[in-house]
Amino acid sequence: MPSTSIKSHNNYILFDNHMHLRQNGRFMEAVNMFIKAGGNSFNLVNLPEDFGPLSNRYEAIYEQTLKMAGIIRSETSLDVVVTLGPYPMDYFLFTDHGMNPLEYMKAGIDLAAKYILDGKANAIGEIGRPHFPVADSIIEASDEIISYAMLTCKDLNCPLILHTEDLDSQGYKRLEKMTLDTGIGLDRIVKHHASPLDLCLDTKIQKSILASRSNVREISKCKGKFLLETDYVDDPASGWKVIPPDSVPKRAVMMREELDDWESLFDECFLKEPIALYGEDSFAENLHL
Ligand SMILES: [Zn+2]
Repeated sequence: MPSTSIKSHNNYILFDNHMHLRQNGRFMEAVNMFIKAGGNSFNLVNLPEDFGPLSNRYEAIYEQTLKMAGIIRSETSLDVVVTLGPYPMDYFLFTDHGMNPLEYMKAGIDLAAKYILDGKANAIGEIGRPHFPVADSIIEASDEIISYAMLTCKDLNCPLILHTEDLDSQGYKRLEKMTLDTGIGLDRIVKHHASPLDLCLDTKIQKSILASRSNVREISKCKGKFLLETDYVDDPASGWKVIPPDSVPKRAVMMREELDDWESLFDECFLKEPIALYGEDSFAENLHL
């Protein structure tokens, strides 16, 4: 059984950097799939869910996310990192209701910052820009939110998880410039849903790569720091998108079986990178601290 053999590598943090759960979705069933495949920690990113009045949107979403993290920690021995923030597409939700998206989304970032200061959450995200073409005015507004979040994360010294369109070399350079303008370190910025070929680009922005089989096979083509993620969205009605919650530990088995340099890759994505981003304390269960 691959799942038992991967567990023998208990010096690694088998970490999924991007997972969304819903308490009335598969929730613990998804968590248990992850554990059964050998996973031992993940980043729980809030879902853009509706829990009541829009004016109270982020408090309701964050509280729900923290509640789920608490349940998972009490029922399992997983380390759960928590990322909170206003989802980029919330922009449309606020404009549709005649509300100012910048005002509410910045307040959402401020509230996430409070939870991080209180030690209840670890990172801000996923924030950013819509991943599909939109009007220039929406890109400008989204960039204003990104810069605001960068400044906030700089003050907190915490990671910022970005949701954007696919980035080419120019796109990364533009993002780097925004990063440098705000003074936050490039190593604090994580491009979620990065391509493995982005590792070949000359940029120090961190990359979190979807743990599909084809992506993992391409990871060795370029050298670079990376994390793996499923971007699992817990919605039983729409299948297993983006990929199933047990994919990262399953790809770990695949990497060990197929890639000659699996040990240096494991060192990167299952040890150095998670610790560099979220700190050793976030993995106390795994590191036996
Ligand atoms: Zn996501």
